[in-house]
Amino acid sequence: MDKARRVILFPLPFQGHINPMIQLANILHSKGFTISIIHTRYNSPDPSNYPHFKFHLLPDQVSEDEASKHDILRVLHLLNTHCIPLLRECLGKLLSAHHDICCMITDAMIYSSQAVAEDVGIPRIVLRTSSVCSFLAFAALPLLQQNGFYSHLNLPLDSRSWEDPVLELPPLKVKDVLGIHIKNLNDTLNIINDMIQGTKKASGLIFNTFQDLEEPNLSNLQEHFRLPTFLIGPFHKFFSAASSSLLTQDRSSISWLDTQKTNSVLYVSFGSLAAMDGKTLIEVAWGLANSMQPFLWVVRPGLVQGSEWLESLPNEFLEITSERGYIVKWAPQQEVLSHPAVGGFWTHSGWNSVLESICEGVPMICSSFFGDQMVNSRYINDVWKLGIKLECGFEREEIESAIRKIMNLKEGQEIREKLSCLKEKIDGFSSTPLNALSDFICSTR
Ligand code: UDP
Repeated sequence: MDKARRVILFPLPFQGHINPMIQLANILHSKGFTISIIHTRYNSPDPSNYPHFKFHLLPDQVSEDEASKHDILRVLHLLNTHCIPLLRECLGKLLSAHHDICCMITDAMIYSSQAVAEDVGIPRIVLRTSSVCSFLAFAALPLLQQNGFYSHLNLPLDSRSWEDPVLELPPLKVKDVLGIHIKNLNDTLNIINDMIQGTKKASGLIFNTFQDLEEPNLSNLQEHFRLPTFLIGPFHKFFSAASSSLLTQDRSSISWLDTQKTNSVLYVSFGSLAAMDGKTLIEVAWGLANSMQPFLWVVRPGLVQGSEWLESLPNEFLEITSERGYIVKWAPQQEVLSHPAVGGFWTHSGWNSVLESICEGVPMICSSFFGDQMVNSRYINDVWKLGIKLECGFEREEIESAIRKIMNLKEGQEIREKLSCLKEKIDGFSSTPLNALSDFICSTR
């Protein structure tokens, strides 16, 4: 590149979205771009970790109350309404101060930034932080709605229809699609639709994923999204997500893993947003205890609604597992997954976690709570065959059996072999897609 060119990035302020956006910023910086990050006060990244970036704070209106409740739909709504005039003002200032701005890259979920980009006259490139397969499933939801799919909701569904395939969207089942929405169905569908429409109007589309994994969906993607598209993941192969962690990563988990045998530990984490009730936590606990397998379990404060941390766990469970279980509030996940003692990952199927597990060759047990997790877990189980999905939710017998399969039996071994082939492909990746993105960004203005 002849001269440094500036890219403005605006992440969605949730952990699973901040990590890939900051990683992308580091990747682009390593390609010679100058980086400006617009961010909200809510879940702000720590600028002192990135002296090589310029940070611009939006005085957003996300209150402490909304933040503490992790009300995802509300935060998305506020970002796409109240924050938009602030974004316009911020971009105006940046454009008059810098003449080297090529484009703005925003999270797909900040769809209202498309109109702002058009108003101020800069191209917007979308970063979609999840899989292509879940993006395409989201894009098909309006069609399902038109076909009357959601009228199911008013009927008492028996357990068989719950397991029915959704013919328009293989390999998804009725329960997978019904599990996508968060709290309010219509609000979720509207937000997803706005996200898809906003992406269609953008100048380009970046995914944190890779071609070998998503091959079956790529022609469908090109058919429905006619814009330059770049699959340049997994981002964490270039830069770790550790520096953008919003919670302190407890490093004692690594010292504990150092004392465990190779491939013996099941790592359990449900990410930064998932929440469950006390009864479910107890099923998780007894599933872990009954499997007799050593485990490292992340119980994030807030995982159990209305509870501080571990008070819902029975003392009997804590006593039985004290020798082979270790519980932390937040872990250095990428390092944990690359530790030789870790032989399996029970995940909520958040996309960063899935990619981190694939890259370290760790077989997965998949749960899912909402959104793209429903689709990711179905693909991991049915299509990619890189893990086992818990089909009954959180039920101690199924949990115990899945842990035994993944850690000890032939199933686990077969998955490990598949993962090792994928890992070899990832290790041998060329820089062609990234160079194409870099050239594209330079050509945008
Ligand atoms: N993570 C972490 N420590 C933990 C659990 C998760 O650092 O104890 C990181 C993880 O490595 C990943 C991100 O948090 O990069 C979670 O993103 P994901 O898409 O998996 O799930 P989300 O939190 O968005 O539901």
